[in-house]
Amino acid sequence: MSGSPLVIVYHRQPLEEVVIDGKIHYRTNKSPNGIVPTLKSFFNTLGDDAGAWVAWKTYDPETGVDFERRVTVEDPYGDYTVSRLPLTAEQVESFYHVTSKEALWPILHSFPDRYRYDNVDWETFREVNRAFAEAAAEEVADDGLVWIHDYNLWLVPLYLRRIKPDVKIAFFHHTPFPGPDVFNVLPWRKEIVSSLLACDLVGFHLPRYARNFAEVARTLVGAAMGPAVPVDPALATPGMALSEPDVPAHVVHEGREVVLGVAPVGCNAPLVDTILATDENEALQRQLLAELDGRRLIMTVGRTDYTKGMIESLCAYERLLERRPELRGQVKMLATSVRAAAQMTVYEETQRDIEALVGRINGRFSTLDWTPVVLFGAAIPFDKLVAYYAIADVCLTAPLRDGLNLVAKEFVASKAGRPGVLILSEFAGCAVELPQAMLTNPYSNRSLDHALDTALATPADEAAAAMAAMAREVATYDLAHWAEVVRAQFATIDRAGGETVVETAAA
Ligand code: UDP
Repeated sequence: MSGSPLVIVYHRQPLEEVVIDGKIHYRTNKSPNGIVPTLKSFFNTLGDDAGAWVAWKTYDPETGVDFERRVTVEDPYGDYTVSRLPLTAEQVESFYHVTSKEALWPILHSFPDRYRYDNVDWETFREVNRAFAEAAAEEVADDGLVWIHDYNLWLVPLYLRRIKPDVKIAFFHHTPFPGPDVFNVLPWRKEIVSSLLACDLVGFHLPRYARNFAEVARTLVGAAMGPAVPVDPALATPGMALSEPDVPAHVVHEGREVVLGVAPVGCNAPLVDTILATDENEALQRQLLAELDGRRLIMTVGRTDYTKGMIESLCAYERLLERRPELRGQVKMLATSVRAAAQMTVYEETQRDIEALVGRINGRFSTLDWTPVVLFGAAIPFDKLVAYYAIADVCLTAPLRDGLNLVAKEFVASKAGRPGVLILSEFAGCAVELPQAMLTNPYSNRSLDHALDTALATPADEAAAAMAAMAREVATYDLAHWAEVVRAQFATIDRAGGETVVETAAA
């Protein structure tokens, strides 16, 4: 096999399996939203060569692997192969639910007090990452590119570089990346950083995260920082919690240059426009407005996760109803807290806390014809969510820390310049792109209270002007733009042709 010029390594499979007349068919995922279709769009550019995707699929060790390891998917983006790495439920539990979610996730999000080490089996994390590297190595051409996604695969570059010294390796973080003071809580810090330094390109949403990584690499293993380049003005509003004026373009370690890529992911703005233009969506909006019966809608949308600030948002809403009795019966909060697929203790606790808080607020303030908060525990389908965004008065997006936060961008896209207020945490990555939002500090009750009061009092023309400015940003820097920026970054490492030996720049 000559191998594929591009292999994407992403924990989730990009396909659905359907059984028709007893035969398994592999179909492209139906959901048009999310990043997977955009990742697949990278396969469009490969000409006659097929792309490849590596993901895991669980199997029962009692019965053995009972599925095809490698399948071909016919897809509008071009046929590609999917290599399904067989993992046992125990391996998934250990490497994903325990090590990644209990130890790595809290550190990435600067919650060292949530860091849990006791159940971590680092040997299993290594073993699974090594298996992913071997599966990618089987798929990739000798001079091809392997693009690895997210921290649960942090060690893949290390093992892959040993097997295939000449392939290009790119990595993208969908999360924040903390500075050394927090990152160094991880006992495996040097191993992780050494692995990332085996890449040709390490990508992040924001300049701040890239700079943090460079600092970690400099202080832990002596990597030299390349020259700082000014940050794109669209991301560099001075004085914001996450903004940076400049960022090192690369780091150099053991004679190899590792490019630092910055590309904040965008929302699928054209998809939002298409959904909004349908008669069904218009009808749904009318129906939702009728159900609201003149009440103002405050939305807060996210996965069940302590990083998302749902508790803080609900408490702020409770204080609003306490402080301003005239609003009782006049506002409604729609809160979605989408449960993690596999229940993890830490998320179960958060879910319980959210449910208890919603119960308390409704218990305190409900009347026969008014429920202050409606909580959805399952994901709202995207087209319906867009209708909610379109009619909501306020979107309260107050994560304590978030790599980017697409909900905020989708809300702006769905407003299409009509009034509505985005209350946005300064600690959500997209805040640096949306300085016109009503920025808030979710660690401060006073700041959240002020934001809610101001949002509800903002005149429609002022709200519409801010929305229009943000809508331009969101439409320009959308998901397709993100893909273009990443392609340009790939071209940079391609030009280097694997010859990445450079003069060591002064740190
Ligand atoms: N989402 C959805 N239905 C819901 C809640 C969320 O479709 O009820 C989608 C939302 O539209 C967004 C994604 O889930 O595209 C969440 O992305 P975000 O970056 O905000 O958070 P993440 O979960 O990736 O941390």
